[in-house]
Amino acid sequence: MFKMTPNILKNFITEKATRLYPYEVKEPYDINRGELVNEIEKCNFCGICAAKCPSQCITVNKKTATWECALFVCVYCGVCVETCPQKCLHQKQTYRKPVREKEIIFMQGEVKAKDTPDGSESS
Ligand code: SF4
Ligand code: SF4
Repeated sequence: MFKMTPNILKNFITEKATRLYPYEVKEPYDINRGELVNEIEKCNFCGICAAKCPSQCITVNKKTATWECALFVCVYCGVCVETCPQKCLHQKQTYRKPVREKEIIFMQGEVKAKDTPDGSESS
């Protein structure tokens, strides 16, 4: 205890080294890879993002035109963003706020006729 006293006194008078996150959030760096966003209207459900994702947290179903991402499994590596041929995946600079339950991003789009082998659109 006595060994720690100088340290405790110093901490009372110097600037805090920690923040009250999530109330005080540090400004993100320019190169931050944060929250994942999919512009679903541009997505053609090719599944390349799911195939390349090292965490296997993306599920794509071309028949139902759905795209899902298990956010608690995502490691924010950005591989899906780099490999998406439609350039519809992006990462914000900021991270999601803490949540109490595991979240899955579920997005429903529509398959365009040009993306199906027989030229039919999904219902
Ligand atoms: S790689 Fe891009 S276009 Fe293909 S399914 Fe993923 S988000 Fe959609
Ligand atoms: S950022 Fe990385 S881990 Fe997260 S969904 Fe994309 S490829 Fe997977």
